Amino acid sequence: MTTPTLPGHPHFAYRGNELFAENVRVSDLAREHGTPLFVYSKAAMLAALAAYQRGFARRDAQICYAMKANSSLGVLQVFAQAGCGFDIVSGGELERVRAAGGDMRKVIFSGVGKTRTEMRQALAAGIGCFNVESEAELEVLSEVALAMGLRAPVSIRVNPNVDPKTHPYISTGLKDNKFGVAHEEALRVYRHAASLKGLQVVGIDCHIGSQITDATPYLDAMDRVLDLVAAIEAAGIPLAHIDFGGGLGINYNNDAPPEADALWQQLLAKLDARGYGGRKLMIEPGRSLVGNAGACLTEVIYLKPGEHKNFCIIDAAMNDLPRPAMYQAFHAIVPVSPAASDVPATTYDVVGPVCESGDWIGRDRALAVQSGDLLAVLSAGAYCMSMASNYNTRGRAAEVLVDGSAVHVIRQRENAQDQMRHEKLVAG
Ligand code: PLP
Repeated sequence: MTTPTLPGHPHFAYRGNELFAENVRVSDLAREHGTPLFVYSKAAMLAALAAYQRGFARRDAQICYAMKANSSLGVLQVFAQAGCGFDIVSGGELERVRAAGGDMRKVIFSGVGKTRTEMRQALAAGIGCFNVESEAELEVLSEVALAMGLRAPVSIRVNPNVDPKTHPYISTGLKDNKFGVAHEEALRVYRHAASLKGLQVVGIDCHIGSQITDATPYLDAMDRVLDLVAAIEAAGIPLAHIDFGGGLGINYNNDAPPEADALWQQLLAKLDARGYGGRKLMIEPGRSLVGNAGACLTEVIYLKPGEHKNFCIIDAAMNDLPRPAMYQAFHAIVPVSPAASDVPATTYDVVGPVCESGDWIGRDRALAVQSGDLLAVLSAGAYCMSMASNYNTRGRAAEVLVDGSAVHVIRQRENAQDQMRHEKLVAG
């Protein structure tokens, strides 16, 4: 068998017939820590971050990692230590930033449904900015801040109505999405914000979607946002920063997104041309910082041949890897030790043990496997563990962070007791 190559995964590679994460043989990790197991490469995360840092060299820019992509503490710690801020969407995420040693002043709080409790929590923590998504939210935030004797720093998320050409579930900048304030309404909403005593307007933001693989939607959105910046400032409301959100895609399946530094070269040229090159910039990348830094190791439990379909049943499932069930998303699935089996390749649907027909991880995959073999589900660093659930009372997987030859367990496998900890039988 020829050894597969892993495009887009420079820190996961075959040496001979064994898959390695940095300098660690992943079959050793599976043996020691069990499966399913998420394996992350610290070097891959830092390399992805470095592409943004190169893009913003000599600019006043703040990278706020959108931690919804992967909010495990050990992952947050990598980005906190590298000087990143964080884009959060809940009070729970705020507490994770605190636990990971993040700088609260570099936290921005996004999301359409912030509660008063979450607002108080974030104000007390001294976060850098609330990215507000509606007029109702502006009023409540002003009220909450005034009651605390504070002024909340705000930016308004504007909806540039640009099609990011991605899956409808991860497209957020179109008119019909629930996010942000319509472009045509933005100036009026900014005037409203500036009139509220508990708020201090500090910026503007947009986020048009996720897994974007083309620079054009970004360039279009930038034009639309800069038009608004001009109009808002002409109305006497200065904007200290412009936040262009996240959304840059990764290579899942022959996708060819621009590199972060190349993308930003184009965007900064436009920003300069329009006279905003000196403005403080913020971005909120998630997937592009962690997606291809992670793989999920899983064991083949059974092979189940059928008349129309053959099934390869693995011990990872939709509760661990929810993206295929949610968005019909593609993850490459590769053998951990390609030479281990001398069985011929067969086409399988790779499925988990969960009792749902939607519990599939890959469809029509040619694999030369037998029961007991290990597979690696690639591009599993983003929107996998952070979306994982306990459906079917399956404990969430363990996670390890590889750093060169060192292996750090950053999450232990959940057992049934962990899952039942907060439940009670009815007394009597
Ligand atoms: N910012 C906001 C407001 C988001 O909703 C998201 C994700 O949907 C992100 C940033 C991160 O996006 P991505 O992971 O595609 O970079």
